[in-house]
Amino acid sequence: MRRFSKSFTQQEPLSEASIEAAVAVMRTGRLHRYNLVEGEQGEVALLEQEFAGSLGVSYALACASGGYALQLALRACGLAPGDPVLCNAFTLSPVPGSIHAAGGEAVLVDILDDTTVDPDDLAAAAEETGAKFFMLSHMRGHIGDMDAIAAVCDAHGITLIEDCAHTMGASYAGRPSGTFGKVGCFSTQTYKHINSGEGGLLATGDPEIMRRAVIMSGSYMLYDRHLAAPGADSFQETRFVAPNMSGRMDNLRAAVLRPQLAELESRQARWNALYRRIEAGLDAHPLVDTIPRNVDEDFVGSSIQFRLPSLEQDQIARFITGCEARGIPLKWYGKPQPEDYTSRYDSWRYLPATRPLPNADRILEQLCDLRLPLTFTEQECDDIVQLMDSAMEEAV
Ligand SMILES: *Cc1c(COP(=O)(O)O)cnc(C)c1O
Repeated sequence: MRRFSKSFTQQEPLSEASIEAAVAVMRTGRLHRYNLVEGEQGEVALLEQEFAGSLGVSYALACASGGYALQLALRACGLAPGDPVLCNAFTLSPVPGSIHAAGGEAVLVDILDDTTVDPDDLAAAAEETGAKFFMLSHMRGHIGDMDAIAAVCDAHGITLIEDCAHTMGASYAGRPSGTFGKVGCFSTQTYKHINSGEGGLLATGDPEIMRRAVIMSGSYMLYDRHLAAPGADSFQETRFVAPNMSGRMDNLRAAVLRPQLAELESRQARWNALYRRIEAGLDAHPLVDTIPRNVDEDFVGSSIQFRLPSLEQDQIARFITGCEARGIPLKWYGKPQPEDYTSRYDSWRYLPATRPLPNADRILEQLCDLRLPLTFTEQECDDIVQLMDSAMEEAV
């Protein structure tokens, strides 16, 4: 049997610019973000300034991971222990995990056929629970109807926090993802859109949320060394009331990220070329439904999702096995036992009893996912589609 031989988890190597910047930091020995010499701004502070500029927001904070940014956002927005926090039923485990870590209780909200959150069920869940926070995951890069979502949040006095782990570089109706809510949270982990191994970024236009986030992230009294934060003299109150929950980013990671941030737009174009090629191939197959893209959505196609709505579970299982045999490791969210990463809410049994989520149950049973690393070419995308077609022929 013919097999696709490249790895779906192999990212590109770091560019020479990133490598040189990292080596330069190592030569100084000053890896800690606040370990600066006279006149030095530091890689982390510069990254924050550049990232805030790229989104057009006033403030940005770099931290230890995307999940940490989510926790920090909730705490900085004033979450109290036991508060309900709305969250999409289809997301990745660090999202409900961050709500749990911050002391909140996740309340899952149902999704639409296109996998984005259902604004009507969002309103229903807000009414049922009185929740005042919504952590919205733009899961797998799909941005839902932001006008409808924002309207529900406004009507219920809900603070919106965006999880942009899959939408760094994306926008909706011309507005960058991460600027619709009070806080936008991003990940710079290896499998996201810029790569520092681990890392997170938080963006906000709210000065008090930013002051709390800075102190909570572990700034000690060194908040004056930030370039994308409110003025140091405005911290007089906050510095005594916000606890230090150590989760800083270091200069080494920031150094490798800065050149990548500048490359984000060209990466998006390359990702979307791969995405559109696979999408066209899959759309030609009568049993495969790709997820329609809203015209307002300017996405980053670093992975692709599709549904198999007319197949039985055993047929999907055979298709997945056939793809695996051909070197194509599809993620199938309907698989009864969770493998590699978990995105099904029944894998998170620490959650309080969940609301009925009939659409999420139905959609996840038929939903498949494929990573698209930039190490692939468009020809290889055609090859992947052909191999998937032959696996499908065998399975049904
Ligand atoms: C990766 C991811 C996160 C968390 O990011 P980390 O940097 O790994 O903590 C949050 N949400 C989603 C949807 C993700 O895919």
